Amino acid sequence: MQEQKVVTLETFSPEETLALGEKLGREAKPGEVYTLVGDLGVGKTVLTQGIAQGLGIEEPICSPTFTIVQIYEEGRMPFYHFDVYRIGDVEEMDEIGYEDYFYGDGLTMIEWANLIEEILPRHRREITIEKDLEKGFDYRKITILQR
Ligand code: ADP
Ligand code: MG
Repeated sequence: MQEQKVVTLETFSPEETLALGEKLGREAKPGEVYTLVGDLGVGKTVLTQGIAQGLGIEEPICSPTFTIVQIYEEGRMPFYHFDVYRIGDVEEMDEIGYEDYFYGDGLTMIEWANLIEEILPRHRREITIEKDLEKGFDYRKITILQR
């Protein structure tokens, strides 16, 4: 039997999302894999920035759109930030040597992870960010599913 746990959180400002990310980053353990899904402009980069800060990374996070993976070594563990949006084929992940990251000693974060579903580790934390305009322009629902 597979054990899954879902936590749903709400934020009402970018600062709150940043703070939530920071908390996740402080609690992260080496070897964990987080996936991040949500529409453009929903706050994925804001949350990722918070996670980086929680790991003790001070430099700003930018979306690694053209490099697929961006590596930050200055925190309390390595931070591997993937954005697989532009990937053509999962084989490109082999060329990067993704297993060294996914099964390494850092925290892996994968944006657009649904595009590489077949190589995702079975145990991972899936984070989804959604808007709900009825609850305000800055409202975000953040769902965390532990697989
Ligand atoms: P993505 O990386 O998902 O495309 P960004 O993180 O770059 O999105 O941008 C999110 C935008 O939404 C920022 O301009 C941010 O200020 C704004 N925003 C408003 N409310 C929130 C919130 N509650 N959480 C995160 N971002 C928010
Ligand atoms: Mg972004």
